[in-house]
Amino acid sequence: MSDCIFCKIAAHEIPSSVVYEDDLVIAFDDLNPQAPVHTLVIPKAHYDNIVDGVPAGTLAAMVHAVGEVARAKGLDDGFRVIANTGAGAGQTVMHVHMHVLGGKELGENLV
Ligand code: 5GP
Ligand code: ZN
Repeated sequence: MSDCIFCKIAAHEIPSSVVYEDDLVIAFDDLNPQAPVHTLVIPKAHYDNIVDGVPAGTLAAMVHAVGEVARAKGLDDGFRVIANTGAGAGQTVMHVHMHVLGGKELGENLV
């Protein structure tokens, strides 16, 4: 999608702080972090959200990347993974992404 900011990040057309990358996915630090560690995991191919027909292998690659982010960032005490799905849930970039949040006590509240 030519007008999608995350497609441009995946193609390295827009710079980002890359934490992990493989053939299927890329992980980069969020521009507006909500926790000491706030990294986004996205597939390189465009899907609107996590239930937009993302192939199983791509979903597996995203989860694998979450683990790589946690290891790279030293999130040994735990972390949170969030996939806002749809505008009503606060999704602002319509290219599927998982937020990996950690580096502080996250508490019981979801957000
Ligand atoms: P959403 O609200 O869609 O779940 O999350 C989108 C996230 O993307 C937000 O946390 C926002 O800060 C982040 N974001 C938006 N544009 C950019 C960008 O150009 N670069 C980076 N690194 N993060 C972005
Ligand atoms: Zn996209």
